[in-house]
Amino acid sequence: MTDPRPGLATPFRTHTCGQLRATDEGTGARLAGWVHRRRDHGQLISLDLRDRHGLTQVVVDRTEAPEAHAIASRTRSEFVVTVEGTVARRLDGTENTKLPTGEIELRATSVEILNEAKTPPFYINEPDAPVDESLRLKYRYLDIRREPMQARLMLRSRLVQAIRGVHHDNGFVEVETPNLIKSTPEGARDFIVPSRLQPGSVYALPQSPQQLKQLLMVAGVDRYFQIARCFRDEDLRGDRQPEFTQLDLEMSFVDEAAVMDFVEAMAIEVSRDVVPARHIQETPFPRFTYDEAMERYGSDKPDLRFSMELVDLAPALGTSSGFRVFDDALAAGGRVKAIVAPGMAGATRREIDELTESAKRFGAKGLAHLALEAGGEVKGPIAKFLSDETQRAIVEATKATEGDLILVVADTAAVVAEALGRLRTELGARLGLADPDVLAYCWVYRFPMYQWDVEGKRWDATHNPFSGVVPEDVELLATASGDPARPSPDDPAGRARAMQYDIALNGWELGGGSVRIHKRDLLERSFALQGYSVERMRNMFGAMLDAFEYGAPPHGGIAIGIDRWAALLAYQTNIREVMAFPKTQSGSDPMLDAPSAPDPGQYAELGLRFVGAPERRT
Ligand code: ASP
Repeated sequence: MTDPRPGLATPFRTHTCGQLRATDEGTGARLAGWVHRRRDHGQLISLDLRDRHGLTQVVVDRTEAPEAHAIASRTRSEFVVTVEGTVARRLDGTENTKLPTGEIELRATSVEILNEAKTPPFYINEPDAPVDESLRLKYRYLDIRREPMQARLMLRSRLVQAIRGVHHDNGFVEVETPNLIKSTPEGARDFIVPSRLQPGSVYALPQSPQQLKQLLMVAGVDRYFQIARCFRDEDLRGDRQPEFTQLDLEMSFVDEAAVMDFVEAMAIEVSRDVVPARHIQETPFPRFTYDEAMERYGSDKPDLRFSMELVDLAPALGTSSGFRVFDDALAAGGRVKAIVAPGMAGATRREIDELTESAKRFGAKGLAHLALEAGGEVKGPIAKFLSDETQRAIVEATKATEGDLILVVADTAAVVAEALGRLRTELGARLGLADPDVLAYCWVYRFPMYQWDVEGKRWDATHNPFSGVVPEDVELLATASGDPARPSPDDPAGRARAMQYDIALNGWELGGGSVRIHKRDLLERSFALQGYSVERMRNMFGAMLDAFEYGAPPHGGIAIGIDRWAALLAYQTNIREVMAFPKTQSGSDPMLDAPSAPDPGQYAELGLRFVGAPERRT
């Protein structure tokens, strides 16, 4: 049946290439699109015509339409054409059940070439053909013409539409904030933009709209959201880009639970709308304090699609297990913990070496292992140091069963968590433990407010510098010396917990936010601990400090990475796959050739001179 949606007909087409069905048989139609494939059978030429909406087979018969046939014989892949004709049923047995339009074909009466095309640098009509990513990025417009990118961009568009819908339904106001601002630090370097009108001055591109959204709360907007572009000049990784998009939101008169409850309901509604076939593992989303997440998973963004929790071996080992490495770690106040790799008791020497290398890469000095063999025997280089009783206690604590491999790290609490948490992720992937179709969301909250910055000799906010402290820890925002300008690693501030929450999905941090400090004096105290002098504070956050003297309501919010969310919903591990025009690993755009040397005239206008810039292409 003809798609009832109006509005896609234009002077070049009556229907899209995905629209015609058997019920349209006998009607006249005009299509426009790209030649996906051309088959020349002499008398008959068939053209698969493609647009974003689908594919329709066009048949041009020399006897029925000699002129159209002559033109069709000149077309090649990716030519842009418009075809007029009559919808006909395909002959019995020639239908294509894989195509929604597969029961029909368009018998052409006229063909017009709207534009020719060179042979593309890679096949557009073979979605699975591997293509080097640099080539894909250089010819991104051709890459996006391919089916997989089209599907992903459409998913992303639906995602953003769904997000907007839920926010509008819940009393949020969409407000745009500027991109030329003064620095809002989020722990990365700023991109700066020199001002022509005020030579010698620069704008910063926002690392996030953090200060502006808080100011909107002071302004009484009550509930704000924005699909916001953010810019952070940092080294790129799989899930990082210098510019990226956040769902940024802020709410007034809320506590942590109110923000988390809204965001959770929103995430559920959006997921069900955009990817209805994907199962959400658990609702309400599991919530872990930071301490609990680190204790159980060694990560503040655990992948909950599989269990493999970290097990504390201290009770099983007692004070003298017989293995010095374990005993020493415990005596020094450290931890000895294990994870169980199911079915890996028969791991080869090489596999064990690889796991050990991973553990070392994540900071551990080594990785001990015990294999639980058939018959219940415990094997491994350290087994001889441990009594039968200790071995049994370890097996019991870890709940390992025959055929499993127990992996143990002994070190400081932080190293044990990091090494085993990362190994857990690695093993989950290696053993295929995570169901790719499942969406396992969870919350991690109550993060430490600060971490000690050894070099800067100051407390660094673990998230953003505006996060609030949990009410019972307010008194901890202090230094041992009593002088806020002289912080030290032993300060009570190190124990303060933030009203900070992160949302994770399938092992990725999807977003994070907090209930904020909304009182000026407390904000100043927190900034002082973070090493800001009064002068620098005023210089960087003057507007915010002033605003807080004009009736700032209690408020909190969150930002969620749209690129990451879209990637996970589209089964991708790299956010570039869901961005129309991403940058390469070195931050360049090979299509537009950016960044590039500025025009010398621009330097002069901006009062700039590049000192020691490497020689550039002209
Ligand atoms: N501005 C924070 C960020 O971009 C999120 C927030 O706290 O709302 O990570």
